[in-house]
Amino acid sequence: MWTLSLYGWTTMMMNDQTLTIDSATEMDAADPLRGFRERFHFPQVAGGELIYFTGNSLGLMPKTARGYVEQELKDWETLGVDAHMHAKNPWLSYHELLNERMATIVGAMPNETIMMNSLTVNLHFLLVSFYRPTTERYKIVIEKSAFPSDQYAVESHLRFHAQNSALIELTPRTGESTLRTEDIIEIIEREGDSIALVMLGGVNYLTGQAFDMAAITKAGHRAGAVVGFDLAHAAGNIELKMHDWGVDFAPWCSYKYLNGGPGAVGGAFIHERHSNNFDLPRFAGWWGHNKERRFLMEPDFQPIPGAEGWQTSNPAVLPMAAMRASLEIFEEAGMPALIEKSRKLTGYLQSLIDEIADERINIITPRDPNQRGCQLSIRVSDRGLHERIIARSVFADWREPDVIRVAPAPLYNSFADVYRFAEILRDCLI
Ligand SMILES: *Cc1c(COP(=O)(O)O)cnc(C)c1O
Repeated sequence: MWTLSLYGWTTMMMNDQTLTIDSATEMDAADPLRGFRERFHFPQVAGGELIYFTGNSLGLMPKTARGYVEQELKDWETLGVDAHMHAKNPWLSYHELLNERMATIVGAMPNETIMMNSLTVNLHFLLVSFYRPTTERYKIVIEKSAFPSDQYAVESHLRFHAQNSALIELTPRTGESTLRTEDIIEIIEREGDSIALVMLGGVNYLTGQAFDMAAITKAGHRAGAVVGFDLAHAAGNIELKMHDWGVDFAPWCSYKYLNGGPGAVGGAFIHERHSNNFDLPRFAGWWGHNKERRFLMEPDFQPIPGAEGWQTSNPAVLPMAAMRASLEIFEEAGMPALIEKSRKLTGYLQSLIDEIADERINIITPRDPNQRGCQLSIRVSDRGLHERIIARSVFADWREPDVIRVAPAPLYNSFADVYRFAEILRDCLI
C-alpha cells in the first residue's frame, strides 16, 4: 500500500511568499471528502511516492471494483446461461443498475441516459439520429482542436452524406488559447440557417476549457440547429444539467473522471423530447426493442421509449460491474461536494504554479473556475520539463505540441499532492 509521508516535508520558500506544507495538511484535514482517497488503488512505483494527476485520462481503480467483477464471474461460473435471469444482479437488465446514478452525474432524467458501447461508437449512433443535413441546412460547427476521434467521426458522417465544405471550425483569437463564448455565439448567429449541428466538447481535452453549454445550446436552438456535446472530459468533472439546458444529445466515456476502468462502457444522453420520438432515424438492434416482447423474436422493431431504445446489443456485464463500483462511490460523495473540492484543489494548484512560473511555463486553461474543471493545461517551452517531472513519479501527460496536462481529481487527490507537485515542478524548472 502506498502511503504519503506528509511529515517528512519541510517548510519551503517560494519566491517571496511562504507556502508551506502545513497549509496543505490543514486543508486536507478539513476536507470532508478526504476518506475517499483510501477507496482507490494507486499504482505502485519504485520509492513508493507518486502523484497521480492523470485521472482525466484513466481514473484510478476503486477497491470495490474487483469484488463486483468477481461476482459476475462467479455467477457465470456457477449459473451459466441462467445468470441472465438468476444472477445476484440479473444480466438481462444489468445496465438498469447504472442509468439512474449516471443520469444524476450528467443532470439528466434516468430515461434520457443509457450506458452502452463506447464513446466514439455512441457518437456515431447519435450522429445517425441527429445529423440530418438538407440542401439548405448542412453545416457542422466543431472546435478546430477537437479530440481527433470526434473530428474523424464527424468528417466521416459528412462523407457519408456526401457533404463537402460543411465544417465550421472554431479557433481562438490570435494570441489566445481558448474560445470566447461570445465568438462561438456570433458564428452560430452569422451562419444561422446553414447550420445543421453544433457539436463541441463539454470540456476541451487539450486546454481544459469548459464551455458555457447553456448559452451555446440556446444560441444553437435559436438558429434552428441541433446541439450536442461530447462529455468525455466533463462527466464526473463539472456540473452538468443536460436536461435543463435543453441539450439535444451527448455521448461520453467512463474511464476518465468516472473511474470505470480501461475501455469502460460509454454513455449517451438523448433529451426526452427526442428519445420518445420514434420517427427519428436510428440504427436498431434487438436490445433497443420492447423489453416485454424481445424474446418473442418478432420481425417488427418497436423501440423502447427513452434512451434505452438506442441500445443495439445486450449489456457488457463485466465492464459494467466495474462501472457500478465507481458510480456508487460518486453517489456517496455527491457531485456538489466533489465540485466544491475540485475548485479549491485546482485553485490551489493554480496559485502555487503562479508562484513559481516564469516565461517558460504558461497556464492556458481559463482562470475563471466556471470555465474549467479540475484540469490545468500548462504550455511549456521545453519538453524536457515533462520528462523531468515524470522521472520524479508524477503522473502527468504530454499532449502535442507543447502541453503538460495535470488533473487533481477531487475523489482521490489531496492538497498535499498539489503542494508536492508544485515543489517538484519548481525543482525541475531549474
Ligand atoms: C477520450 C476521448 C475520446 C476517446 O474515444 P473512445 O471511443 O472512448 O476511444 C473521444 N473523444 C474525446 C473528446 C475524448 O476526450
